[in-house]
Amino acid sequence: MKKYMMYLLIFIFIIFVLPSICTIRKTKAMDLKDNTISAENNNNNNLKHEYSKYGTIKLYHSKTGQTEELPMDEYLYGTVSAEMPVNFEFEALKAQAIVSRTYTIYQIEHNNKKHGEADICDDYKCCQAWISKEDRLKKWEESERDNNWNKIVKAVNETSGKIATYNGKAINAFFHSNSGGITETVSNVWGGKNLPYLQSVETAGETEYEQYSSEVKLKKEELLNKLKEVYNDISIDFSKEDDIKILAYTESKRVKTIKFGNKEIAGTEIRKILGLKSTKFSINIDNDYVIFSVEGYGHGVGMSQTGANTMAKNGSSCYDIIKHFYTGVDF
Ligand SMILES: [Zn+2]
Repeated sequence: MKKYMMYLLIFIFIIFVLPSICTIRKTKAMDLKDNTISAENNNNNNLKHEYSKYGTIKLYHSKTGQTEELPMDEYLYGTVSAEMPVNFEFEALKAQAIVSRTYTIYQIEHNNKKHGEADICDDYKCCQAWISKEDRLKKWEESERDNNWNKIVKAVNETSGKIATYNGKAINAFFHSNSGGITETVSNVWGGKNLPYLQSVETAGETEYEQYSSEVKLKKEELLNKLKEVYNDISIDFSKEDDIKILAYTESKRVKTIKFGNKEIAGTEIRKILGLKSTKFSINIDNDYVIFSVEGYGHGVGMSQTGANTMAKNGSSCYDIIKHFYTGVDF
């Protein structure tokens, strides 16, 4: 009987317990493998934007027409120091470093034929500004040169390899000087489709910067002449109160369209013609003059640099700053 019980126990062990042990082991092994696979996949995803892939960039010098190959971070020393005042907060400079790196990688991936073989140019009106170390140092007081340059280098180095991504891809990281309190969407500036990470967002504290407010005061005939350079059949009856009138605003309270006599003109177009610092403006007519009172500086899309500086002063990190201006991004 004892023997019989023993066989039964062995039988139960072989039939029921042993397979389940093996299955557990096997499942664990599979789990591990699955994890490994997904980690590999993630790595592959990251690899697509692996910073080392863009270890060097080809920079087109717009003045000389020459193309220079530079290590990415060295290029960024020249860009951050050209694009943002060095006396801005350290976290704001770090945010600028990440934004400029992201912008550069986006250019490499999307506009690689814009400057022939080069990846990007040094003209802020076309791509983003860049200045050589030699020229940059000359513009600073001699006693401040080392400290200033070291601050820029540290901001870039501390963010080395970091870019802002949306769905795993480098974002089109537009930035500007001062948003006038609220940023603009892409379609209101350049038309086309909006981007999910470039929403209109508000930032406090933009008013304390010199870039916040400006004025363009033109004599009525001067205004008419400037407009005639583009619209030669334009006519304005200055005696009529509503012959100059803002017709529509964008969601961020920038001028979308404006009426000048017999023409309806886009706010972005008027900004170009009259050299206004932004499309966030109001108009006053004072005797012989037409006065444009402007808020903010730049197109208003993406990160506001002065807004970034205010956020940094209030304790935000470079990542908080970027997440504020670019909705839903990762790093
Ligand atoms: Zn360019």
